[in-house]
Amino acid sequence: MAVAPLYKTQELKIYNSISSQKEVFTPITEGNIGMYVCGPTVYSNVHLGNCRTFISFDLIYRYLKHLGYKVRYVRNITDAGHLENDADEGEDKVSKKARLEQLEPMEIVQRYTLDFHNILAKFNNIPPSIEPTATGHIVEQIEIIKTIIDNGFAYVANGSVYFDVKKFNETNNYGKLSGRNLEDMIANTRELTAQSDKKNPQDFALWKKAEPEHIMRWPSPWSDGFPGWHLECTVMSTKYLGEKFDIHGGGMDLKFPHHECEIAQGEAACGVTPVNYWMHANMLTLDGKKMSKSTGNILSPAEIFSGESDKLSKAFAPTVARFFMLQAHYRSILDFSNDALEASEKGFYRLMESIATLENLKTGKTTEGFNIQNWMNECYAAMNDDFNSPILIAKLFEAVKFINSVKEDKATIAEGDYKLLQKTMNEFVFDVLGLVNINEASSDISDKLSGTVELLIHLRAEARANKDFATSDKIRDELQAMGIQLKDGREGTSFTLN
Ligand code: AMP
Ligand code: ZN
Repeated sequence: MAVAPLYKTQELKIYNSISSQKEVFTPITEGNIGMYVCGPTVYSNVHLGNCRTFISFDLIYRYLKHLGYKVRYVRNITDAGHLENDADEGEDKVSKKARLEQLEPMEIVQRYTLDFHNILAKFNNIPPSIEPTATGHIVEQIEIIKTIIDNGFAYVANGSVYFDVKKFNETNNYGKLSGRNLEDMIANTRELTAQSDKKNPQDFALWKKAEPEHIMRWPSPWSDGFPGWHLECTVMSTKYLGEKFDIHGGGMDLKFPHHECEIAQGEAACGVTPVNYWMHANMLTLDGKKMSKSTGNILSPAEIFSGESDKLSKAFAPTVARFFMLQAHYRSILDFSNDALEASEKGFYRLMESIATLENLKTGKTTEGFNIQNWMNECYAAMNDDFNSPILIAKLFEAVKFINSVKEDKATIAEGDYKLLQKTMNEFVFDVLGLVNINEASSDISDKLSGTVELLIHLRAEARANKDFATSDKIRDELQAMGIQLKDGREGTSFTLN
């Protein structure tokens, strides 16, 4: 007989940003979930803050799958249309980088998409089911703009198309996600500049006519131009998940204007509100301030993995950084610090040690000192309560304590309970939290091996300085033969493993 999926017996509650409360989760189609998460703008390397948001949604995706749901997870790549400034002004971020680096915009997109995939794979994130790009959906964006114009919610001005927020607000509610009120917004904004084509400052671009120097452009009925940033997410979410779908996520900073505009576009185009549950992940901060590309207050994943930053005492494995992030609830602000990361690392290895101990734990006739069934229910209760990973982790450490007591003959565990404990631990630690089992000794060895390669790099530099090219070439060639590639750059020599 087929086992019933877990979601039939587990009551999941999700904090819905639009109602500001936890709600029992009911998908539109039983057993199936459509989830859309705003992806990165691929114009530079992802920073650790971006990674936190994507790890938060990876946890959510993993738990939904663990509950037995069939999840279609769509996460886009923004490769056009995201301007430097949220008020539809400034250069396109991708074009600007292409101009500065004298590359094709698509070379920029390719480089940073690869970096994004590579880093998320290191954090053991599961790739989404579909990863559409904005430039791959220009035709659909033009079509939806036509519909919004036909429905009377957008106007053409000087080759650009703008969403008419005031008009929309007569019949709908612009501001319902962010808790803003249009009248207040109008009262608090400055007058439009003379050169603006907008009727109101709150209006946002659906299509922008390209200035002569703007290289990323496509033909449209209104002008050669490019789509507005908010529109791509409306198009790609509804194309793959339907006009109305279950979950839409992103970082807290996208709530306004990006997600507010998505709601307006969806309602204006389809006549239905697009999303049932809005989920917003909170920010990773550094020295109390949001990690952000624009201010430069960032740590990169590469710095964490190599330890090469004056904010770090050493290198940390990606899974340790992931564990550190999951020790905070996704809706809480998390401040990064080396001390906190070191504390997480200790806890992480304690957890992994306990998983190893559990493999060979002696079983007895009865279980004394722990109620495995209750404990398991509490683990589920933590995750059912809006994906509360810190509470789950605290529960896992209760099991660690018990496992150690059994090992020290201070408690006993019966065979049946043992199987349940082992299964539950493995499922939560590896499937749901997505941690990777590395032990302290192996990570210690890899630290030492990197140290050894660094030493060889140093000796090679000395040999070169002494014009002993035979030795310097020998070091490089023999490392290469072992699959270690040296790369000489402006800031010295680095290495990669082939
Ligand atoms: P972007 O590439 O700037 O569009 O950002 C990609 C994602 O990272 C968005 O969901 C942002 O909300 C999120 N994000 C940006 N900065 C942070 C941060 N400091 N902490 C957590 N998430 C962030
Ligand atoms: Zn988006």
